[in-house]
Amino acid sequence: METYTHSRDHVQLHDRLFTTLLPAEQVQERVREIGAELTGLYREKRPLFVSILSGAFVFAADLMRAFDGDCEVGFVKLSSYSGTRSTGDVQTVMGLQNDLRDRHIIVVEDIVDTGRTLHFFLNHLRSQQPASICTVAFLRKPEAAAFPVQVDFVGFDIEDRFVVGYGLDYDGLGRNLPGVYHLSAP
Ligand code: 5GP
Repeated sequence: METYTHSRDHVQLHDRLFTTLLPAEQVQERVREIGAELTGLYREKRPLFVSILSGAFVFAADLMRAFDGDCEVGFVKLSSYSGTRSTGDVQTVMGLQNDLRDRHIIVVEDIVDTGRTLHFFLNHLRSQQPASICTVAFLRKPEAAAFPVQVDFVGFDIEDRFVVGYGLDYDGLGRNLPGVYHLSAP
């Protein structure tokens, strides 16, 4: 059986050691800020938060609770991502049940890496004729952007290193960590 070790500075998941990048308190503070900004823009519009599964479920849960007004939430499962590299084509696996026409949509993504996932999903969304679309990404890797996508709210811009925590996993582990950790240099 593998040994699970977790301190404030490090966490070991499977065979890899990760180092703290964003402590939990910093994450929560930023989520509250974005929630307040969204409240100012959407309080009277009953927005539909659309969370891209699996990674964004933690961020979406906190973000909608930082939103002070009527809102709804839906989930969509899109891509496959294995190991520590972004691979494969994005595919819709699980669709939204909600009718998006004339709704104000807030797309909630965990991390924009190449931008492929968001680019694909925004094209899909536009075809459903919503009233408006806003994109929120918890993390963004600016150096890795290969697909042009507009991200309206970004939690944190980070360097191009593999991260875990706050919904993001390494081969299934690490989603429950309240902070964000990046791969320690080899
Ligand atoms: P993109 O389509 O922008 O290249 O990649 C987006 C998806 O790849 C994210 O939703 C996430 O699931 C995954 N991803 C990208 N970078 C990382 C990372 O550093 N760590 C983890 N755990 N997943 C990542």
